[in-house]
Amino acid sequence: QQQQQQQQPPLYYLAPGVGRRVDQLSEEEQIKIAKRIGLISHLPVRLFSEAAEQGKNYECVICMVDYVEGDRLRSLPCTHTYHKDCIDDWLMRSFACPSCNQPVDATLLTTFASSAANH
Ligand SMILES: [Zn+2]
Ligand SMILES: [Zn+2]
Repeated sequence: QQQQQQQQPPLYYLAPGVGRRVDQLSEEEQIKIAKRIGLISHLPVRLFSEAAEQGKNYECVICMVDYVEGDRLRSLPCTHTYHKDCIDDWLMRSFACPSCNQPVDATLLTTFASSAANH
């Protein structure tokens, strides 16, 4: 049994259309990517439940597939919701909501700043 699965290094996008292999990133670029992954991980994740959504039909605009019971969804600060896997992949390429184009990082940073100020 020969499984020749060449593991491709993940491709990260510094800006839309500017993809770079992870081993080709400069230190500064690695920090930028790490910050972005950190921001993404702060976005809320929930499980889709038909009962909780009260019969509304929700479709992920990235993959055009309706949510089904138990799907993992991620909500953006603009309240748009997508499959977690779809939006995580999307945010690595473009850090803006695919529906309303609102930049995710600006909103998040504002949220962090205001919650820090409340302390
Ligand atoms: Zn999707
Ligand atoms: Zn949005």
